[in-house]
Amino acid sequence: MSKIRTDSLFETPQIEEVASGHIIRVAFESGVDSEFDYLVPDELWPVGTGQRVEVPFGRKDKLQIGFCIKADISHRETQRKFKLKKVARAIDKKPLLDEQLMELARWISSYYVCPLGQVLGAMVPAAVKRGAGVKTERHIYLSTTAEDFEQTLKQLRGRKQKQIVRFLQERAALNSRTALELQGALAAVGCTNAPIKKLAQQGIIEITQKTILKSLPAIPEGMTIRTEIVSLNDDQRKALTAINSGTDSGRFGVTVLHGVTDSGKTELYIRAIERALQKKKAAIVMLPEIALTAQTVQRFNARFDNIAVMHSGLTAVQRNSQWQKIKAGQANVVIGARSAVFAPVAQLGLIVVDEEHEPSYKQDTVPRYNGRDAAIKRAQLANAHCILGSATPSLETLSNCSSKKHFNLVRLPKRVMDLPMPQMKLVDLRLQYSAQKGVTLISEPLEEHLREVLAKKEQAILLLNRRGYSNFVFCPACKHILHCRNCDVTLTFHKSKLPQVRRTQTLMGRHMDYGYALCHYCGAQTLVPQTCPLCGKGMAMIGLGSQRLEEELKDKFPQARVSRVDSDSMARADYYRLLQDFSLGRIDILAGTQMLAKGLHFPNVTLVGIISADTCLYLPDFRSNERTFQLISQVAGRAGRSVKKGTVFVQTFLADQPAIRFALAGDFEGFVKEELKHRKSCNLPPFWRLAVVGMRDRNFEKLEAASKTMRERIDSIIGQENLKAVVRGPMPATISRIQRFHRMQIIVQAPQAQTMMKLFSRLRSGPAVRPAVKVTTDMDPVNLL
Ligand code: ADP
Ligand code: ZN
Repeated sequence: MSKIRTDSLFETPQIEEVASGHIIRVAFESGVDSEFDYLVPDELWPVGTGQRVEVPFGRKDKLQIGFCIKADISHRETQRKFKLKKVARAIDKKPLLDEQLMELARWISSYYVCPLGQVLGAMVPAAVKRGAGVKTERHIYLSTTAEDFEQTLKQLRGRKQKQIVRFLQERAALNSRTALELQGALAAVGCTNAPIKKLAQQGIIEITQKTILKSLPAIPEGMTIRTEIVSLNDDQRKALTAINSGTDSGRFGVTVLHGVTDSGKTELYIRAIERALQKKKAAIVMLPEIALTAQTVQRFNARFDNIAVMHSGLTAVQRNSQWQKIKAGQANVVIGARSAVFAPVAQLGLIVVDEEHEPSYKQDTVPRYNGRDAAIKRAQLANAHCILGSATPSLETLSNCSSKKHFNLVRLPKRVMDLPMPQMKLVDLRLQYSAQKGVTLISEPLEEHLREVLAKKEQAILLLNRRGYSNFVFCPACKHILHCRNCDVTLTFHKSKLPQVRRTQTLMGRHMDYGYALCHYCGAQTLVPQTCPLCGKGMAMIGLGSQRLEEELKDKFPQARVSRVDSDSMARADYYRLLQDFSLGRIDILAGTQMLAKGLHFPNVTLVGIISADTCLYLPDFRSNERTFQLISQVAGRAGRSVKKGTVFVQTFLADQPAIRFALAGDFEGFVKEELKHRKSCNLPPFWRLAVVGMRDRNFEKLEAASKTMRERIDSIIGQENLKAVVRGPMPATISRIQRFHRMQIIVQAPQAQTMMKLFSRLRSGPAVRPAVKVTTDMDPVNLL
């Protein structure tokens, strides 16, 4: 637990002793891992848990906003009865978070080792906190009666005051019902605020305030979507029975829905939600951000009347109005990305997490929570049911199915309508390269097939998990590689249309266009030098990137319509437009990064090519096999989503790699068995828990010293508490420097979550590590770079 302090160290003497009154406990968003008690003046009472207040803080009593995390604390409970500072202002009229979300916040704070105030801050969208789109309208009316009117008028001195009073009287603005809008009245009379103030002080007029929230529709309109009700197949029916018995029980439970792409999972989510709504309960559906396309949202919108959406594509005003709609109980289905797990739904009956294996559910800034695991926790707190759906469930989830009694696994092994799975073709690039002359991204077999597809007026998706043009800029003569000045990574070459950058040559001797070298970690850009800064010879590019893929396609298929999708090439709106164009057949080949692998439905796509299945495998991460398997399976699901037969090409240099072999055979069970063997032998998740303590500083000596101290602390707690855990490090992180910060990490492995909790709760309650460096704790990390 974090420390509880009363902020009384720097009190000035004017603060009186307190014998009575309400005390609340406040946590700040700023990141202090302590909580502070304050006295609430009677006129501000009641203040509830989950409500924000403004309070004086620190030596200078600077006003700060914090969340009330406990209301009405007894005087005995607060450690210092005296000299409590007073709450200055209540920000919200009502609590933003209910008791259930507060409890979820406490869990996240303790499990993910993050100050409670920071968690609370992250739970409420910024747009809500600053009231985006909220307008205050003021209205005025006369508080005198008609009889007293003349008398009142006589008393008045100011000419403007008289004018206003007349104006109100003429319009019979005598009570709050017929009040006039203030600004309009002022404009009509032609006066400033001052006379109004005077009149109000004398009690002649009254001013009322009304807050109005602009509400903007957040759901795209005008897309046609098929809405006919299908009848479920046998597998679906069995699965739905299992889910419904969970929802009906009114008790917490998890159904893991393992179904291949197109097996009808989404249809089941919809049915399960219908059931929950019948029981007067609400539902939350979580999707990876990128899958939150207009297509998906429309599909739910076509089946439910009151849905709200929460995703990054909304404007601030939309975000606030959607949140308020949920809070007011006007939406009973919420669809959103990771943060939808915090939707202020009151009567929660069901949470669906689609693509539960997705690493993007893990937030990579504080609080570093996993949206899926928070969803499970929330379902538990709400006595609700949780569905985790995936074509390739994570090993953690599978292992929960066999070890936890409230987890239940159901399968949808077939595509609906018995569509065949696509044909999988392996292209061994080692053989290709020895036979071919130059280095190309599209192998001969893939090129040939692509030609056939184009000839038949069908469509193709090509996937390359790397942005830019090439990921190394180097000198063939002296082997010098361009590195980022600030980070320990190589620079990626990006082509640009800007003419100010000089020409360089590729390995193949072709002239490059203009471009710049970009660091994908800190965003630093440099011009690509024409000649090597060390030896003066010409620079060259190697490695692959989506820009280069696009170029090669345009070279090889000049008549085809090719579009590239990656985070460089587009904003979200353009992305949707492009998908729309693709579905209307205006684009033949879509080439891009993993943005393309998720949740899209294009019946005319008969070819999917994975340009390099190896990009994940080179990463030093224990989940790289799992990611590779998931990527290939996911992408395979994009092909042949109709009666037309689909083909998937998987290009690789590592044709013997088990993850690739199993993925090609569509053998999920085989892959899991093999991978679990490896994880078990190394005490890795899902068998043991993993946490990474990351430390960074610009000064390496300081960092080294602090890291050593951190290790000693960890060891001493483990010793004192007699915990079973394995600790490794401190060692340099895989990317040992980012933005000029050197990075070290300590990896902790423990068989039990409890052990981790014990270790980290003691670690955080101790004093800060010296010398002071930046410390982060990542529990259940999904990325070890
Ligand atoms: P998944 O979420 O597993 O990819 P979906 O639920 O999106 O699968 O189903 C794929 C397509 O099949 C959708 O267009 C859906 O409307 C349709 N579908 C789902 N279940 C059935 C069914 N029982 N009969 C006919 N079509 C179905
Ligand atoms: Zn950098």
